[in-house]
Amino acid sequence: MSQPLEGQVALVTGASRGIGHEIAMELARQGADVVVAARSKDRVEPVAQEIEKLGRKSLALELDVANLEQVQESAKVIGEALGKVTVLVNNAGVTRDQLLARMKADDWNQVLQINLNGTFYCTKVFSRDMMRARSGRIINISSVIGTIGNAGQTNYAASKAAVHGLTRSVAKELGSRGVTVNAIAPGYIQTAMTQELGEDVQASLLKSIPLGRLGEPGDIAKVVSFLASPSAAYITGQVIHVDGGMVMA
Ligand code: NAP
Repeated sequence: MSQPLEGQVALVTGASRGIGHEIAMELARQGADVVVAARSKDRVEPVAQEIEKLGRKSLALELDVANLEQVQESAKVIGEALGKVTVLVNNAGVTRDQLLARMKADDWNQVLQINLNGTFYCTKVFSRDMMRARSGRIINISSVIGTIGNAGQTNYAASKAAVHGLTRSVAKELGSRGVTVNAIAPGYIQTAMTQELGEDVQASLLKSIPLGRLGEPGDIAKVVSFLASPSAAYITGQVIHVDGGMVMA
């Protein structure tokens, strides 16, 4: 029986661990060939091997999304190895938390450069072939913090709120070309990023989550694979909160 993502070529940025790793695996389980990218090739190579064990093609790619030239170069490398990207998942992201009064310009710039400019660079480069093909899926991983804000995360919240605006604007530009553009705003998901929070912070966080647990990477990956699938053909320009109920609009 054919799988929903058979014939698709997905690129997942920040696929070496955490949410990006699980997204890459889920897309492969659903039939896609998957390019796994991160700043260190050594860290994505094992992920590519896992995908190949599922009988799918994969490519481990060293790619810093904050570097436009590298993004442009990666499109050529991927094209030669697996074909044109039909599903782009902008997942790479970082935090550099600090209260505003103590936040250095470098902390601000680094987070904006990776989380926002990286999303812009990849979207600009990889949407070109999608527009020509009159089909494609762009899925941006933002954050609930982009919607509700958080003390100590001015840079991160600004970057993710900007991704929401980017998502809606690009969705309007590319809708007539058959390309959908959506964002998933995760709540608190158990990864290296949230392990830094400490047990007491995690315990107090649970009180703000109606479903009473932190999320798993798989909670996000399943929504990504839905948005990439034919079942989601009429969804675009949305910010979907996958957060155990933290944000209710
Ligand atoms: P993580 O465990 O820290 O993983 C981040 C990934 O991004 C790694 O693969 C990292 O690999 C890669 N990366 C970082 N900078 C990069 C760059 N410049 N170019 C390419 N890859 C880069 O983070 P996570 O928790 O899985 O988060 C994934 C995404 O979900 C992020 O966008 C994050 O903001 C978002 N999110 C997470 C949570 C959460 O609770 N965990 C909640 C809301 C939103 P290298 O270091 O090897 O490059």
